[in-house]
Amino acid sequence: MPPIIDKNLCAHCGTCYEVCPQDVFSFDTKEPPRVAYPEECWYCGACVLDCPEEAVSLKLPLPLHIVPSPALYGNPEKEGDEEGFKKAAAFTRSIIED
Ligand code: SF4
Ligand code: SF4
Repeated sequence: MPPIIDKNLCAHCGTCYEVCPQDVFSFDTKEPPRVAYPEECWYCGACVLDCPEEAVSLKLPLPLHIVPSPALYGNPEKEGDEEGFKKAAAFTRSIIED
C-alpha cells in the first residue's frame, strides 16, 4: 500500500515531498501532497518519520514485515545506530528490487 496522508492533519509543509527519494508525491503549497506515483514507493518510511504532524501512514506489504524497516520500528538513527539504519534500508531495497 502506498502512503496515505490524513488531510485533516496535514499542514502543507511539503516535507514528505522533499524527503521522498522516489518522488512519489506531487505538491502544491495550497493542498496536501498527492500520491502521484504509488508504484514507485519502496517503503523506506522517510515520509512517515519526517512528517511533523504525523499525518502520513504507510501499510507495509506482508513480506516486508520480516524486515526491520524504520516505517515499522522507528528511526534507529535517532538512537545513534546509524549503521543499523543503513543496513536495514539496504536490505529492504534488495528485497523490493528482486
Ligand atoms: S510532511 Fe506531513 S504535514 Fe507536511 S505536507 Fe507531508 S503530510 Fe502534510
Ligand atoms: S515510504 Fe519512502 S519511498 Fe515511499 S513515499 Fe514515503 S518517502 Fe517515498
